[in-house]
Amino acid sequence: MKKYDAVVIGSGVAGLSAAYGLREAGKTVLVAEEDLWGGTCPNRGCDPKKVLLSGVEARNRIKQLQNKGFDELPTVNWEELQAFKRTFTDPVPEDRKQQLSTAGIDHLTGTARFLDESTIEINGEKILADQFVLATGQRPTILPVEGKEYLKTSADFLSLSSLPKRIVFIGGGYIAFELATIAHAAGSEVTIVHHNQRPLKAFEESMVQLLIDQMKKEGITFAFDVNTQKIVQEGDSYRLIAEGTEIIADAIFCSTGRQPNMESLDLDKAKVETDKHGIVVNDYLQTSNPAIFACGDILSKRRPKLTPVATFEGNYVAQRMQDETYPAIQYPVIPTIVYASPKMAMVGITKSNAASSDQVVEVDMTNWFTYHRVNEPIAKAQLTFDQRDQLIGASVLSEQADELIDDLTLLINQKMMKKDLDRYIMGYPTLASDLSYLLK
Ligand SMILES: Cc1cc2nc3c(=O)[nH]c(=O)nc-3n(C[C@H](O)[C@H](O)[C@H](O)COP(=O)(O)OP(=O)(O)OC[C@H]3O[C@@H](n4cnc5c(N)ncnc54)[C@H](O)[C@@H]3O)c2cc1C
Repeated sequence: MKKYDAVVIGSGVAGLSAAYGLREAGKTVLVAEEDLWGGTCPNRGCDPKKVLLSGVEARNRIKQLQNKGFDELPTVNWEELQAFKRTFTDPVPEDRKQQLSTAGIDHLTGTARFLDESTIEINGEKILADQFVLATGQRPTILPVEGKEYLKTSADFLSLSSLPKRIVFIGGGYIAFELATIAHAAGSEVTIVHHNQRPLKAFEESMVQLLIDQMKKEGITFAFDVNTQKIVQEGDSYRLIAEGTEIIADAIFCSTGRQPNMESLDLDKAKVETDKHGIVVNDYLQTSNPAIFACGDILSKRRPKLTPVATFEGNYVAQRMQDETYPAIQYPVIPTIVYASPKMAMVGITKSNAASSDQVVEVDMTNWFTYHRVNEPIAKAQLTFDQRDQLIGASVLSEQADELIDDLTLLINQKMMKKDLDRYIMGYPTLASDLSYLLK
């Protein structure tokens, strides 16, 4: 029977970060993957989404400059955009395996499951290890309604070879907003259906409302308080049936959330505790079995499930597994972004969770040169300062919110004040040169 110092289950960013860290420390490592090598982000998550979004951003920017140098609105050629996207996604699985081999890390394709606390089985082969890393991620949840077999997922959307004319997204999370933005700009009629009145609930309500208003102006339809009960196929189309509402579409995507991939692992045999959100860990990302660690989206911990968080945790796990005195994980502030149009982003303490001693400053940047030069319809920020006038959080809405939020994240992490920033010269005119206007 083969034996390793460590076996990593799952080849997404979390698992691979842990695997490389362990290998660098001289450990013998095996990575197991049951599906696409590289996991969600580069195959069916952030990266393909952002490639498709790039086409949309180019089109939207020209739309904003109609009659300001541009007359015609270009249309998105979906087939070509998809072909361009595949140049990014197609090579990923082979590249990832190649990179592992180059680093001296073994890899095996198949579903891993525990036989006991130190043995797993993959494709009938038994493998022993001193330590394990569980990095099995999440998959889309499918609503348990009649006709659920007609529902498609975000992964299906990202690889659509042709774009359906009428699309419904069920769910009010960031994935629905982002994919709706892409589909609409590429020419589909899009409806977002949500079960209550408060989509994107982790974000500031007033900012979300501004985003929805803007998306409605662009032509995206929202149907709130709609509880989907049934999906019926009618020829090539589908009918979504809810109490008091019916919507016909050519494709219906379920984006109601994601669930942990852990059933196949037989975790009870390894004495690993789970709850309905995922694998339970302590502040050292150690499970109830001290030889088994977990990181990334599979964690039950309520951190945003994002690529840089999964990478941070994978790196941490590799350190902690080599050094029992390594301190508990300390997360910096985590920026989260909705790549809609406009984009919305937040970091740190925002208006709704600010203390009474904090001060929230609302800034309308729409007429600032940065935004006006590209004729952006809206650019707003809400900044939270503590008693010492230290920036501790922000919410931003604009086409450039994704870049600005990272600048603000740096200022928060570095505890920079306006006087610190005034010591630097930034390139002008840029988002960075606006920063000192945003600080107190
Ligand atoms: C549509 C979409 C868009 C996103 N956009 C962004 C974004 O813009 N920015 C951002 O930061 N994040 C984004 N995310 C989230 C991001 O993709 C995840 O947070 C990240 O990929 C999590 O990485 P992971 O390594 O924890 O899990 P994953 O990448 O999901 O990897 C887990 C792997 O484990 C494998 N596995 C599961 N069970 C077993 C088993 N028993 N045996 C062997 N292998 C197994 C799975 O096949 C999978 O490949 C997006 C996600 C989606 C779905």
